[in-house]
Amino acid sequence: MKNNRLIIVSYRLPFAFETTSGSTTLKASSGGLVTAMKSLDFKGAREKPVWVGCADFSRRTWEKHKHLLNDDFEYVPVFLDRKIQQDFYNGFSNSVIWPLFHYFTTYVDYQEKDFVAYQKANEAVSEAVAQLMKPQDIVWVHDYHFMGLPRLIREKKPDATIGFFLHIPFPSYELIRILPQKCKQYLLTGLLGADLVGFHTNDYNIHFLQSVQINLGVQHKIWKINYQNRLIQSDAFPVGINYSLYHDAYDNADVVEERAALKNAYKDNKIIFSVDRLDYTKGVMQRLDALEAFLQRYPEWTERLTFILVVVPSRDEILKYGERKVMIEQAVGRINGKYGTLIWRPIVYRYGSVPFPQLLALYTACDVALITPIRDGMNLVAKEFVAARKDHQGVLILSEMTGAANEMSTALHINPMDENEVADQMKIALEMEPEEQARRIAIMQRRLKEYDVKKWAGSFVESLLNMQSTQQIEP
Ligand code: UDP
Repeated sequence: MKNNRLIIVSYRLPFAFETTSGSTTLKASSGGLVTAMKSLDFKGAREKPVWVGCADFSRRTWEKHKHLLNDDFEYVPVFLDRKIQQDFYNGFSNSVIWPLFHYFTTYVDYQEKDFVAYQKANEAVSEAVAQLMKPQDIVWVHDYHFMGLPRLIREKKPDATIGFFLHIPFPSYELIRILPQKCKQYLLTGLLGADLVGFHTNDYNIHFLQSVQINLGVQHKIWKINYQNRLIQSDAFPVGINYSLYHDAYDNADVVEERAALKNAYKDNKIIFSVDRLDYTKGVMQRLDALEAFLQRYPEWTERLTFILVVVPSRDEILKYGERKVMIEQAVGRINGKYGTLIWRPIVYRYGSVPFPQLLALYTACDVALITPIRDGMNLVAKEFVAARKDHQGVLILSEMTGAANEMSTALHINPMDENEVADQMKIALEMEPEEQARRIAIMQRRLKEYDVKKWAGSFVESLLNMQSTQQIEP
């Protein structure tokens, strides 16, 4: 990395400007991607890495407040026309690619104008990247919003070194076939502009290679594609978490205090916990069905358990998300009405985000984490829960439809469609001996500690730099 400047591209920039009663402050994001990018070794590099993303503030706000940004990165916001931004983000990105790549084919709402906006947004961002690029720079593009970008950058800078990482599943070629010809051509040839394309799992990688073969007639050999006289490597890089952040938080004073409050509030009950964004892929309705099956099958657990269900608001401008909220709230009300007693309700529901100390208190106070997505590229909540359990207690019930399930071998794996199976696993989890809990958690923690987010970012960049040298010798 010493001689290379890194250019990161993601939909969001890792900060927001917040204005309250006339004064504007900067709120830095602490998400996984920021930690990963900060962990890369830039020491000795000539210049700061640059982060390019779409602005969710006006040019005026930017000019007035950009001086507040003074950290490890230089930032380049791209200002899109409001309508284009809307159709690009809510439209093609989140109403076509997102549902299709998560196998929700009937949720796909394809509109020509949204695809046009997606192309315009990718074009605008590619312009911004090309303008600031210098020889030796390496570009790392993140996620499904920018699948056209590697090719667009390559057209402007043929010798560029470009990596792309997809943070959601890459589905079977059968799903890609559903897209209009021009869209699949655009997305697949877009990715082939990169030198390295990364996915969370081997399955996603194989799906991509098959899609390229079937839709473009381009062959691959040992994870490499030979396309237009260039080699493209495609491989699995399962994203990790900032292990020590979650593990060490167990002893933070605010976490200790929040945990004690939770344990005290629910002292007579076992706690089952889940937290997800409000998204139809997360299987919240299936989780509620499973809870209901559990309460029906095992009435002896009445008044002995509490399910704390946290749902974090997300993409609320999209109809399918708003509908989901109503469905969840009706189901929670119905189950609490049907199974609750005068002194107890089975579900405590919160719609809103939870601050870090509270999240960690929930991770570490609960007896069972119940994670039931119907599809999930990875699922970081599962990893964070396990990492947080410094006490080696707690049981993870995890959907086999998550990327994380590949790495979390000692979780109780379930199929979220099978409510009776989930109910039975809940009983096993609630009754599991402490020694067995500790054995399972310790095995998963070893893996998470070793393959943390720093390792993930480091190995992706190392592979990208290897491809850079390969490109210079091979075709
Ligand atoms: N999270 C958050 N705010 C909350 C609750 C959770 O930012 O109020 C975080 C959580 O710690 C995790 C991420 O959101 O890092 C969710 O990641 P995951 O991969 O599980 O799902 P995604 O939302 O990316 O589909």
